[in-house]
Amino acid sequence: MVTQSNISKEIISELKTNDHINKAFQTTYLSNNIKIQLNCEGNSAYEKVSFPLKYGLFSRIETPDYIFEFNLNNEIKHAKSKTKAWIHPSEWLKRTIGNDWIYYSTGGYSGVFEALGEYYLPNLMYPTNSLIGGKPFEDNEIDTIVKNWHQIISQLPDKNMPDNFHQWFEAIRHHSPESLEKKAQMLFDISGSRVTVMPPDARHVDYNIIPLNITDGCLYKCQFCKVKNKKKFSIRSQQNINDQIIRLKQLYNKDIINYNALFLGEHDALNTPSNLILNAVRKAYHTFELHKSYMKGTYLFMFGSVDSLLNADKHLYKKLNDLNFKTFINIGLESYDQTTLNILGKPLSAKKVGQAFKKIQDINDTFINIEISCNFVMDETLPDSHYDTLMTLIRENINSPKPKGTIYLSPLKFGSPSRQVLYDFYKLKAQSRYPTFLYLIQRL
Ligand code: SF4
Repeated sequence: MVTQSNISKEIISELKTNDHINKAFQTTYLSNNIKIQLNCEGNSAYEKVSFPLKYGLFSRIETPDYIFEFNLNNEIKHAKSKTKAWIHPSEWLKRTIGNDWIYYSTGGYSGVFEALGEYYLPNLMYPTNSLIGGKPFEDNEIDTIVKNWHQIISQLPDKNMPDNFHQWFEAIRHHSPESLEKKAQMLFDISGSRVTVMPPDARHVDYNIIPLNITDGCLYKCQFCKVKNKKKFSIRSQQNINDQIIRLKQLYNKDIINYNALFLGEHDALNTPSNLILNAVRKAYHTFELHKSYMKGTYLFMFGSVDSLLNADKHLYKKLNDLNFKTFINIGLESYDQTTLNILGKPLSAKKVGQAFKKIQDINDTFINIEISCNFVMDETLPDSHYDTLMTLIRENINSPKPKGTIYLSPLKFGSPSRQVLYDFYKLKAQSRYPTFLYLIQRL
């Protein structure tokens, strides 16, 4: 039988012999000032650990002051400084395929895991709803890397390097900040828009997803929501989806073997005929050759709504469960309190939210490969009835702790960390019988 780990071994052996990638597998080049390691093997499974872990296959260049890492397309992926000025030796910068820099901080290891379910806190360059973390992008050393990484590597000496290292060096210099920005724009063009919000469950793969839009827009256009767009909800044609898949494969190129996760966009992919969802997933799985991924397991993420969840074809969940994926569907419930739903401008009844919550638990209890998580909002200004009714759902209505069906609590305000909201979160988390974490809103 062809297993994922057999295939990964094949890929690695191909890298060893494949001329256009590298003549010497995991070979190291050392000179006075630089060390290059080609085709490093990072971890092949996503893990939640309190030390820095790199995933996938990548290459690295180290100077007396910096470490830079590059993906299999020779595009910069991670960076950190080795100087004393760097905030913490276990922290690093990551560049996303959407060309954002993210600073992964330990938060002193206190409270980050309890709050996010991860040991590292992603600090973003743009306004979001984070309650914890500082302003690392104001730090000089971080700012220097973000602004000058290309200049730094361009100035490194490359004389007398063996050919394969020299070629690699040329290739990484070729990918300037401008060309990486263009590539990000190409990604957004494929689906017609940027992913303005990723499902919170994408944290399980460190947000390394391939985005495929099978729908546009959303059903409710809630007043409170900062990530919605103006598009009327619509479903993409099979032809459009197939075209996106082909273009995505070209864009991710050689680095696609470092991916094992698909995100079906946009804000309500569940509101789609089940055949369209299943065909898109199967087509993407085969075209992207996810079974050959270096990363173990295969993940599927999408958003759904109360209506799409309640109306979905009853066979869909069984069919999703039978795919080769761990599927995570995130539903925005926001509140089980009618007054709060009205304040939020969410056109739903509390009764329907209650029905959706019940159905979510039934699906989570029935299907081992599916987890449906849900979101509720948090804010100091919301009435007590919001928190009282939430407590009914996540504590009073069940007798024992549940291992799945994560509850994500999403602060309403952007760029406004509040001690009170953080305190309220910990209080709710302590009483919840479900895994309960903060939802940090991140784009791709
Ligand atoms: S919360 Fe969801 S349904 Fe409401 S406007 Fe935002 S994306 Fe649309």
